[in-house]
Amino acid sequence: MKFTAFLIKYAEIALKGKNRYLFEDALVKQIRIALKKVDGKFEITKSQGRIYIECLEDYDFEETVGGLQKVFGITGICPVVHVEDHGFEDLQKVIVHYMDEVYPDKHKTFKVNARRARKNYPLTSMEINSELGGTILDAFPEMKVDVHTPEIELFVEIREKIYIYSRVIPGAGGMPIGSNGKAMLLLSGGIDSPVAGYMIAKRGVKIDAVYFHAPPYTSERAKQKVVDLARIVSAYTGPIYLHVINFTDIQLYIYEKCPHEELTIIMRRYMMKIAEHIAQETDCAGLITGESIGQVASQTLKSLAATNEVCTMPVYRPVIGFDKQEIIEIANKIGTFETSIQPFEDCCTIFVAKHPVTKPNLNIIKRSERNLEEKIDELFQTAIETKELIIVE
Ligand code: ATP
Ligand code: MG
Repeated sequence: MKFTAFLIKYAEIALKGKNRYLFEDALVKQIRIALKKVDGKFEITKSQGRIYIECLEDYDFEETVGGLQKVFGITGICPVVHVEDHGFEDLQKVIVHYMDEVYPDKHKTFKVNARRARKNYPLTSMEINSELGGTILDAFPEMKVDVHTPEIELFVEIREKIYIYSRVIPGAGGMPIGSNGKAMLLLSGGIDSPVAGYMIAKRGVKIDAVYFHAPPYTSERAKQKVVDLARIVSAYTGPIYLHVINFTDIQLYIYEKCPHEELTIIMRRYMMKIAEHIAQETDCAGLITGESIGQVASQTLKSLAATNEVCTMPVYRPVIGFDKQEIIEIANKIGTFETSIQPFEDCCTIFVAKHPVTKPNLNIIKRSERNLEEKIDELFQTAIETKELIIVE
C-alpha cells in the first residue's frame, strides 16, 4: 500500500481570525523547508483549515516522516492513501487490503468515519460507515467495532479521488518557527543551552545564537563543537545565525583588574551585555540562556540577579526549574547530548576561581567593575566589530 499524501494535524485551539492565518502560513513555510531536505517532489496545499502534502513522485517514507516530525506546530502526521473511484465494490477491496497491511495485529477495535465531499456519490456517509464496517468485520473477525473510543478510526473521504487514512504519527507539537518573533540564544558547548534554545524555538520563536570563545585558551575544536550543536538544533529551528565573539581580551582584562572570586559574575555580566547588544542589532526581542537555579555558583538566585541586572531585554531561561537529569532527557531526545559531553574546555571554566562568590553583592560587583573603566568600552567595541558570523543549517 503506497501512501501518496500526508494530512497534517495541528492544534487549532486558540487560533482565531488573523492568528490562524499567521500560524498556518508559518507552518506551511516550515514544512516546505523541512521537505527541501528530503528526496522527492511534494506539493503543499492549504484548504478548509487543513494542510495536505501530496507526494508527486517516489519518496522515502521514513525520511519524510522523520523530517516532518521535526517541524514545530505539527501535532500529528497522517499518511494518506489516494485511490481512484472505481465503484463501491472496488473501495471495499481497497479497504480490506489497507487494514490488512497497516494493522498486522488484528485484535483491535475500530470505527469507520466517512465523509462525502462529493455529494453525487451513490451512498450517504452513514451508509458508507455501516457498509465498510461490515466489510472489515467479514474480512477480519478478530476486529471489533467501538464507536466511542476505537483504537483505529478509519477515515474515508470521498472527493474527486477517495482518501483513506487512519494512522496518526505524533508530531513535535508547539508553534511553527517564525510565528512568534526572534530571540538570541547564548549557546555554549554545554548540555543546557542547546536544550534551552530548542524549548523556546518550540514556541514558534526563531533563534539566532551567540558564542563566546577565548582563543588560544579555548581551541578550534571547542568552537567546532558549538557549531555542531547549532547544526543539530537547526534541524528543528531552521538556519541559525551564529555570532562568534572573541572574548579573550575582555576576560584577561577582568582577570587583571578584578577580584578573582568575582570573575565569573563579572564575565557573565559582560557576556549578557554583548549578547544584548547583538540582539538589538539583529532585531531579536529577547535573550535565552540555559541557566538553572542552583546548578553552579553562577546560578544561585543572587548570581542570576546580578547577571540579569545588566540587561533591559527579557531573558528567557526555559530550564530554570529543571534538574540536570530532566535537561539530559531532552538533550537525548533532540540529539544534542552526545555532542555536548565531548570534553573541550569552555571559556568560562578557564578563568574560574577556586571559591567563586555565590551571593554576590551588586554594589561590590559594580565597584570592582569600576576598575575596568579605562579600557572596557574599547574592548567591548572591538569584540563586537571582530565578531564572526557563521550561518549554520
Ligand atoms: P551549559 O550546559 O549550557 O553550558 P552550564 O551549566 O555550563 O550551561 P554556565 O557555564 O554557568 O552553565 O552557563 C550558563 C549559561 O550561560 C549557559 O547555559 C549559556 O546560555 C550561557 N553561556 C555560558 N558560557 C557561554 C559561552 N561561552 N558562550 C555563550 N553562552 C554561554
Ligand atoms: Mg557552560
